[in-house]
Amino acid sequence: QSQNSTFPPILNANEQILLSSFDNTSIAEWSYYYTHGAHVAGQNKTMAQWTADKWAGYGFKSRLDEYYVFLNYPVSNSLVLTYPNGSTYKPTLREDVLEEDPTTSYPNSIPTFHGYSFTGNASAEYIYVGRGQKIDFDRLQSLGVELKGKIALAKYGGPFRGLKVKNAQDYGMIGAIIFSDPGDDGNMTEAKGVAAYPAGGARNPSTVQRGSVQFLSTYPGDPTTPGYVSKPDSVRADRSKILPGIPSLPISWIEAQPILQALNGFGTNGTQVNRTGWVGAIPGVTYSTGAGSNASLSLSNVMNDTYGTIWNVVGIINGTNQDEVVLVGNHRDAWIVGGAADPNSGSAVLIELAKAFGKLTATGWKPTRTIVLCSWDAEEYGLVGSTEWMEEYIPWLKNAAVSYLNIDVAVAGPIPDISATPDLHSISTSLMKKIVYPYRGSNNLTLYDVWVHEGGVPGVLGSGSDYTAFLHRGIASIDMGSGGGPNDPVYHYHSNYDSYAWMERFGDPGFHTHKAMGQYLTLLLYHMVSDPVVPLEPAAYGPELLKYYRALNTTIAATNYTVDLTPLQSAISNFTYAAREFELLRSKAISTNDSALLAVQNHKARDFSRGFTSQGGLPTREFYQHTIFAPGRDTGYAPVTFPGITESITFDRNQTLAQEWVVKTSRAILVAAGILKT
Ligand code: GLU
Ligand code: CA
Ligand code: ZN
Ligand code: ZN
Repeated sequence: QSQNSTFPPILNANEQILLSSFDNTSIAEWSYYYTHGAHVAGQNKTMAQWTADKWAGYGFKSRLDEYYVFLNYPVSNSLVLTYPNGSTYKPTLREDVLEEDPTTSYPNSIPTFHGYSFTGNASAEYIYVGRGQKIDFDRLQSLGVELKGKIALAKYGGPFRGLKVKNAQDYGMIGAIIFSDPGDDGNMTEAKGVAAYPAGGARNPSTVQRGSVQFLSTYPGDPTTPGYVSKPDSVRADRSKILPGIPSLPISWIEAQPILQALNGFGTNGTQVNRTGWVGAIPGVTYSTGAGSNASLSLSNVMNDTYGTIWNVVGIINGTNQDEVVLVGNHRDAWIVGGAADPNSGSAVLIELAKAFGKLTATGWKPTRTIVLCSWDAEEYGLVGSTEWMEEYIPWLKNAAVSYLNIDVAVAGPIPDISATPDLHSISTSLMKKIVYPYRGSNNLTLYDVWVHEGGVPGVLGSGSDYTAFLHRGIASIDMGSGGGPNDPVYHYHSNYDSYAWMERFGDPGFHTHKAMGQYLTLLLYHMVSDPVVPLEPAAYGPELLKYYRALNTTIAATNYTVDLTPLQSAISNFTYAAREFELLRSKAISTNDSALLAVQNHKARDFSRGFTSQGGLPTREFYQHTIFAPGRDTGYAPVTFPGITESITFDRNQTLAQEWVVKTSRAILVAAGILKT
């Protein structure tokens, strides 16, 4: 790992076959197909069938797995700002149609709205609430700002958007408007002299971020079937606990500007509020709370609440060891006609991956472990396709899944990034050395070189994409992709401008980054399914657990609570010892060519992380079972480590509960250690 890459990378014969199969022009062709049609969950059967046919053409046994789930679609919406003098401003709530970007004018393009939003009207004064985290609302309360009965005006970024709506609702507010802000676009802003898309790389001022407002950190999947699969005859639970009960709308920065400006000079100004992420960069806006402005909003949101069929595509190549399965997943649904980055950069790459494995199997090669390719539907509503599928196949997955590899936004810019469970760190970083990666004009660098140059630390998985359901059943998982930095063209997330035209001109001209990311995923899959030794490294959890332990100590030390972490510390030592023993025995199996012993060790590597899960789930959210990492209850995307213990302190402020979770977490770590030992 500390070694540098050699250039060009040295590949074995099979790796050579796989990687040389990759062609950037055919990836562009798959991307073109995926970015010119109906995508929204439950409306993309043509694309599902096309995907299945493609995979089948490359030798995968392919099928569509259907689920019957709650969905909603936009019917109409409107927003009116009324100034104290009675005059009004009415935003269009539309993104501009651009001649340079043909799919923006497609007749089936989707209006701007929030998935799973509440149908209703709200008319009231409004308050700017920053990023809309609990801490922001607490601050507003401490400033004496009346929230009850008002409408929340929140900035995108930071926590998952559904939590902004949840918090507004929890503080008694009756509606929410969420706007994009160029302050989150680094140096790529018109204010800094960069032309807006389509002329240049700055954000088009009319961009709107669509997206789900489901309460993601409670549970993912169909909101009417918590923890069990959604079939036409499934019993339906009350969905109101995880869906908003107040209406909300997304809006562009250019149309949010007058609404924010009407608050200038009222309440506390943004600088004095003194909260991270509070002040943005919309010209002429002070980001004041707006208390007492006497300006009001009238918002209306009408959705068609319904049930519908969604389609996951599943493609299989059976391995010789049928009780060892490696899954690769990407979602196919998008809010828009395009979706060139999210999710179709991943979808295009998966077609090319299937093609590469088709070439390899044509030579007579067979995987040792079963390959399962998955193209998920309804990810955008709340990881629905992947979660329902996991809920259907969990008995099999618990026994057989070696790992789940996720690719969502494979490419939105030049900077590669991975997040993974620690047992995947070693294999996923070392394989980076075998991939040639195009980077800012250089073509003699490996993915590893670039990744190290860009920081080179694997992230901790939180949530926000389809690995979530698998991770929380104790399956080793990785999420990979690439994005832009502060000087790269702005990626128009969940907007009509996440289009083929944008990708071709700004995101990945020539589709070379697509090719590199696809080769990387392909090589990782190849080694996961064919290395005689399952390339998972349980021992890598040891130092990571210690790191989280120290962070937890610091968190607790900063409060008035006393929590005895001794059991946790000793569980970590126990695990570290067991993992070392496991490594020794595995090395022995390899050096003595003991295939029976190796098979046992491979199964331990596959199974040990199931031990980290806690049957009943984390406090207030039984779906989330992993005791080592989880999406934060008030972040949604960003992870929290030792979530049961940490959030009992930071969220529930309950010392007794924290102590209980020290016991539960320690026990889980000991179970994982026990699986490695036996
Ligand atoms: N990736 C989607 C988003 O961030 C869906 C996440 C979710 O609902 O869990 O909006
Ligand atoms: Ca379900
Ligand atoms: Zn996505
Ligand atoms: Zn998305």
